Amino acid sequence: MTKAQALDLLFGKINDVLALGMAESLFLWDATTSGVPAKSLGVRGAAAGWLSGEAFRRLIAPDTLEAVETLESIGGELSVYEAAMVREIGRKYRKFKAIPPDEFQAFMALAAQSEPVWEAARSKRDFDMMLPYYDKIFDFLRRKCDCFGFDAHPYDALLDEYEMGATVEILDGFFNTMREKIVPLLGEITKRGKQPRTVTGAFDISGQRALAPWLTGFVGYDLSRGKIGEVQHPYCTSLCRNDVRITTKYHENQLFSAIYSTIHESGHALYEQNMDLELERYYLAIAPSMGLHESQSRFFENMICRSRTFAGLLLPKLREQYDYFSDWDEEALFRAVNIARPSFIRIEADELTYCLHIIVRYELEKALMAGEIKASMLPQLWDDKYEELLGVRPGNVAEGVLQDVHWSRGYIGYFPSYAVGTAYGAQFMHAMRKTVDVESAVKNSDLSPVVEWMKENVHRHGRVMITDDLLVQATGESFNHKYYVDYLTEKFTGLYL
Ligand code: ZN
Repeated sequence: MTKAQALDLLFGKINDVLALGMAESLFLWDATTSGVPAKSLGVRGAAAGWLSGEAFRRLIAPDTLEAVETLESIGGELSVYEAAMVREIGRKYRKFKAIPPDEFQAFMALAAQSEPVWEAARSKRDFDMMLPYYDKIFDFLRRKCDCFGFDAHPYDALLDEYEMGATVEILDGFFNTMREKIVPLLGEITKRGKQPRTVTGAFDISGQRALAPWLTGFVGYDLSRGKIGEVQHPYCTSLCRNDVRITTKYHENQLFSAIYSTIHESGHALYEQNMDLELERYYLAIAPSMGLHESQSRFFENMICRSRTFAGLLLPKLREQYDYFSDWDEEALFRAVNIARPSFIRIEADELTYCLHIIVRYELEKALMAGEIKASMLPQLWDDKYEELLGVRPGNVAEGVLQDVHWSRGYIGYFPSYAVGTAYGAQFMHAMRKTVDVESAVKNSDLSPVVEWMKENVHRHGRVMITDDLLVQATGESFNHKYYVDYLTEKFTGLYL
């Protein structure tokens, strides 16, 4: 195979994979935003499954390896984009091929069966229903660690799938610091913190909908190249650079949930929209890691839009929709959107306590993959860790160990990316402040200097660089959790103590 033939072959495959992926995204969008006739669900599910399977079959095929090996052998002649494409496709191919096909098939079947069992077990609050599934899932994942290989800790092999380069060594350092600094801070806040005025009552949904275009526009998400749908569980989906869609949810009694979920998804969408257009054909218009994607959503959601300055912009907008806020001031609103309170449920957690929820899962997953604990020990260990880290003990498994769907799907190593991503955001903020006056940008209601910095340093590169190289280029150093710990400590000490 010549260089030109190898490149053509990969470009052709990428073209197919992108088209199939676009169709699959539309299936999801249609099903979640408009609802579909229940009687069509079986056929739709099969069609969506075929689309993703077909994309996979086209990419993970023997001629892909031949093309990758041809291009690897002439590495020096490749452009930066070509070399990154070969690196990424080669990595994906070899990871997948490391697992014996019959084991992989058996695992896919197991994961498909276990999710409905998890749903039933959670609603019946019955961990034992789920136990045999967890046993088999964790067994498979331990074998997967061996197939992938690792240097220091088996869990490293799984972490690397979501956050390339993340290891137990790095994460232990991060999470141990969080334990040391944030657990006592939360304890102090719970004991003697000045509690904020809370927002209560019903806020009509038409007012919430009316706020959405202002929020998306503020963040810089371009609705002429996207749209907003309404769903139960918000997400962002990218059909191509010029069609990046977000979803949000509205509940009368949860005004801030709608506002901050719209901002969060807009942060994801901004990242997708700002990747260089030409990266698409190289299969590089993708974030290098899950954590980096999350760094963007959480940066805008928390660091920008839960700031005192943003509260000053939000308040008049809220007053336009709701008389309720006529006697509120900026400071009260700032405090109300920064409630810090221990809770049981991760997805409802506030900015301060969120990371502690992740530590519980990280420590359990690490011990499971090392074979130090068994699935049967999870309910007790889970509750103990909640008590130790958050000072609350779940009353049942639905608000405890069975609250997340991830393990039933075999997603182990996924949770830490949420916390690591948030910490990347703080590292970006620290670097950005050297050249950008972030406060003034927010105050002037013109985030363009902030967005431009992110576009230039993060967004436009897609997956050309791996995460750590991108961090070094953007901030001058590898991952450094210090900025996040400092940010949380300063913000919440100032707010509460
Ligand atoms: Zn997100």
